[in-house]
Amino acid sequence: MNALLSTVAVRRGNEAELVRQDELPPLQHFIDGTFAEAADGARTPIVNPADGRLICDVPEGTPADVDVAVAAARRAQGAWSQTTPAERSALLLSIADKLEEHEDVLARLESLNTGKPLSTSNDDVAGSVDTFRFMAGAGRALTSLAAGDYAAGHTSVILREPAGVVGVITPWNYPLLMAAWKIAPILAAGNSVVLKPSEQTPLTTLKFAEIIADVLPAGVFNVVTGLGPSVGERLATHPDIDLVALTGSVNSGKAVASAAGDTVKRVHLELGGKAPVVVFADADLSAVAESLRAAAFYNSGQECGAACRVLVHESVAEQLTELLVEQVSSFVIGEPTAGEDIEIGPLVSEAHFRRVAGYLERAQKEGITAAIGGAPLDGPGFFIAPTILTNVPAGAEASQNEIFGPVVTIETFSDEDEVVSRSNETPYGLAASVWTRDAARSIDVPRKLDFGTVWVNSHLVLANEVPWGGFKGSGYGRDLSIYALEDFSRTKHVMINHAR
Ligand code: NAD
Repeated sequence: MNALLSTVAVRRGNEAELVRQDELPPLQHFIDGTFAEAADGARTPIVNPADGRLICDVPEGTPADVDVAVAAARRAQGAWSQTTPAERSALLLSIADKLEEHEDVLARLESLNTGKPLSTSNDDVAGSVDTFRFMAGAGRALTSLAAGDYAAGHTSVILREPAGVVGVITPWNYPLLMAAWKIAPILAAGNSVVLKPSEQTPLTTLKFAEIIADVLPAGVFNVVTGLGPSVGERLATHPDIDLVALTGSVNSGKAVASAAGDTVKRVHLELGGKAPVVVFADADLSAVAESLRAAAFYNSGQECGAACRVLVHESVAEQLTELLVEQVSSFVIGEPTAGEDIEIGPLVSEAHFRRVAGYLERAQKEGITAAIGGAPLDGPGFFIAPTILTNVPAGAEASQNEIFGPVVTIETFSDEDEVVSRSNETPYGLAASVWTRDAARSIDVPRKLDFGTVWVNSHLVLANEVPWGGFKGSGYGRDLSIYALEDFSRTKHVMINHAR
């Protein structure tokens, strides 16, 4: 493969520690308002992806730890569910203020644990603050249908109630932000929480618990660290958990949904994606290339909505490829400590690095060429060169599977029906974008695309006011917006017979 970026060096940071030892959170579970020892002594190592070194270790929790946390959440749930929306709103606003007060250490911890540039971690913290502020307001506006008379002599009242105790399982790509997307609406709707962060990136979730420990009543929010098949599975099977919400891969989503089946608990799944970027011949190609610089490579492409699969009309494919290569060639790659201008960090772990490198090797064997990048970069750390793959045939592995790295594939199409059906042919249905200046096409084509979010002349722009979530293999349930509050609550019909 043509590895044009192999000469690009990873910029290394200075020796200064990103996070001081005394800034780490307590490395324990957080249960019933305090940090607590695990039932047994096993620990999970936490690694810095920028240099492969050990940062610390956290408890490798067990189902017994989950049981203690669920009991605390259940005890707290009764009184918490009786608080008014205004009371919960005030606490959510305090959490937002506390996060803002500690934004610097939270961002540095996130970069230490994930390797992401500090600018990306700053975005994550700011986004988390805004999620708590939005949910503090939206929770007060949550309503249900007005009362009405639908049967003779009977008046129906629809009550909205919390779901109960909610189990939450989060991924490593945006550890704090994905936790905030769940915690804020779940608490706003009057539920209590037991959360398991990714075993690779628990540090900001534990720091969050430390920061907000005195804000919430004990037991309303709990964290148990550990692995998916033990702690995660117990959250899915626990008879006293009412709803389990996972953000993660499709395989974990399937495991959680089937484990939750025995107790018939509700399931909320935000899973993987493979977003098609449909570029018609009349699109503003410079705008596409500029937008994809961020939308495809943000967070090193470890982003479920990443603009990773370009389908471009054959008449403008060469021009767009040139513009994209130009954008990608100016990326500054390095460790988070290497400067504020760093845009691309390492992948999160050695295992994930090998996985992405494997996709590149297999693509090369299939005859796919790299217009830029296409190879791992020199270690230490788990860096892959930002890559654009061209000559990608329809149905190729690289264009169908979620690579979850800094890799964009380019395919061409010749007509609208063809590009709609090829866009829809993946098992994923999270996000897509359509690029055109034709007004009719800008509403027609999005309607035909089977994705939970479709941007027009844009990609990866999110806001707390609008829902986020997928169709098909990308799961079901919605994060953000009033729809998340609906997902994390339940409706009850009370029918009053007032016939005389
Ligand atoms: P992952 O599925 O490996 O892990 C996610 C979480 O699930 C972790 O906490 C893990 O421990 C847990 N888990 C794993 N197996 C489990 C099991 N059998 N039972 C219960 N829990 C289990 O995902 P990841 O690698 O951490 O994150 C990347 C994935 O997340 C990608 O596929 C990405 O697209 C997806 N993601 C989706 C969204 C979205 O909003 N749709 C957002 C971010 C990430």
